Amino acid sequence: MLPCSGERSLQDHVGNSTSTMAVVARPETATSLVSGLQLRQYPIEAIEKYAVSRTPSVNVSPQNDRADRYQAVILGAGVSGLCMGRALLAAGITSFVIIEKSKGIGGTWWDNAYPGAECDVPAHLYSYSFYQNPDWSQTYAPQSEIQKYLARFAEKFDLLPRIRFNTVLTEARFDSQRGLWRLQLAKGEYLSCNFFICSAGPLSEPRYPDIPGIDTFKGHLFHSARWDHHYPFEGKRVAVIGTAASAVQLIPCIAPLVANLYVCQRSPAWIIPRINHGYVSWIKTLFRFKLFARVHRFLLYLIHELNRLAFNPGSVMAKLASKLAEMHLRRLVPDKRLREALRPDYPFGCKRVLLSNNYYPALMRSNVELVTSLVARIDSSGIMTSDGQRRKVDAIVCATGFDIRHTLSSMPVAGLNGYTLGEAWGEEPEAYRGVTVAGFPNFFILLGPNTGQGHTSAILFIEVQVNYALQCIQELIKREKRFLTVNPDAMNRYNEELQKKLVASVWSAGCRSWYKTESGKIIGIYPGFSFQYIRELRRPNFQDYFIR
Ligand SMILES: Cc1cc2nc3c(=O)[nH]c(=O)nc-3n(C[C@H](O)[C@H](O)[C@H](O)COP(=O)(O)OP(=O)(O)OC[C@H]3O[C@@H](n4cnc5c(N)ncnc54)[C@H](O)[C@@H]3O)c2cc1C
Repeated sequence: MLPCSGERSLQDHVGNSTSTMAVVARPETATSLVSGLQLRQYPIEAIEKYAVSRTPSVNVSPQNDRADRYQAVILGAGVSGLCMGRALLAAGITSFVIIEKSKGIGGTWWDNAYPGAECDVPAHLYSYSFYQNPDWSQTYAPQSEIQKYLARFAEKFDLLPRIRFNTVLTEARFDSQRGLWRLQLAKGEYLSCNFFICSAGPLSEPRYPDIPGIDTFKGHLFHSARWDHHYPFEGKRVAVIGTAASAVQLIPCIAPLVANLYVCQRSPAWIIPRINHGYVSWIKTLFRFKLFARVHRFLLYLIHELNRLAFNPGSVMAKLASKLAEMHLRRLVPDKRLREALRPDYPFGCKRVLLSNNYYPALMRSNVELVTSLVARIDSSGIMTSDGQRRKVDAIVCATGFDIRHTLSSMPVAGLNGYTLGEAWGEEPEAYRGVTVAGFPNFFILLGPNTGQGHTSAILFIEVQVNYALQCIQELIKREKRFLTVNPDAMNRYNEELQKKLVASVWSAGCRSWYKTESGKIIGIYPGFSFQYIRELRRPNFQDYFIR
């Protein structure tokens, strides 16, 4: 069994606190110029018209004009934001700032410091292609190593002085007359920029379960992404709600410590073995040779790309993969009743496939109970399940995932006419190639709608998106224009094609997952291979854009 990691090292990975910026006394007053306009029917003329003639969508007060001005603002200092920062610098664009609400670097890898947190793609693939790390300690690196790697990256590429930690962005509005984004920060400060890159992460806002009575619980309750490192688990009665990726990593770590552990499962996941090994020093030496490192990474890439075939319903790979998961379950869980409770009733791949060798054994401990009835209520001292049973607990750990819609629809991001992303998207975010959104000029999302994947490293997608956004920025600068925005027709065509592929895919099968909205529309996943996405984004097709 692998050691449970998850320690956060605070010393050199904590950023400086907020630097001083011009403080603007009066907040921007948004003037929503259009109501009821549906973006999906957005007429092309609207973009033309509003681009040239309408009143700016923000009150451009003299105070706002004194806002600190940058060429670009990047939201978030995670893998995506750092990658974008490095790309801007490499392209000679030095006027930018990275806004980060946490006090440290890494985004996901800063927040998710729960015990046992590790990547589930080999670290040599889950790292930047242009900044390889020969020193990963094991195949699936622990959170602390990934966080340190990202901190080193920020230092090496001179990004640290450009990050404003402890800084929350609360509002962003595009001023079409000036071709500027006006950004408001929580502390009442303003920034303005020509290009706004939103790398706020699809999995950065913890989602708590919507269980009646949760607020009345008097014990200790926290989310896996906000781990309380001071909580003494020893001898406690603990309920973990959720059995997805974070839960299967943390449960084996806390199970030996607690008196009782109740693992509350809504639906089981498909779990396959995790082939993890430590790297001895001579292997690490080999990784210092660029050619060896590249070949190794390429092989990992190919293997993971092949894994994509397991998501094709009825394919040989899908059958092999579900057989493997079934064997894993049979081998590790001899108890037939427990096994039945752990066997998914939906096709392999419908929701994220997990890798774990120690989750099933943890469930077989005498102090651990798998609770399969839904948690119907929480009261001051425990949980009540739908079968009427009550279990007293001292702590509840919510391993209930993230609100993937939250980041952009919860804070106003207003494009042309003050029309917000929340209004444009409703419950169903969509973008052109996952990066640009019609009516939102000079705005780029990294890991935006339909760019998730279940078979390989997100960093492959991030790098190509960064490169795409950079090419758009450079094109606009070269043409000396004010803004660039995607043609709504091109965006609609792209999404229709995408959804056609997704409707027939395994992700549409009967399972609940974070890839889908309540209505069943798949907004989280890209249906193809990563090489297809990489090819699609290699060069922007400027025919699909209005450049003004
Ligand atoms: C536990 C966990 C494990 C994962 N493991 C893998 C893996 O093994 N392989 C893989 O491919 N992917 C994995 N992922 C997906 C992972 O999210 C991506 O790989 C990647 O880290 C996302 O990076 P990002 O920079 O886009 O977003 P994030 O890392 O989420 O960073 C976004 C940043 O934006 C900041 N932010 C958000 N809103 C605001 C605001 N309003 N103001 C200021 N700052 C803001 C956040 O604080 C955060 O730091 C995992 C995700 C989780 C949660």
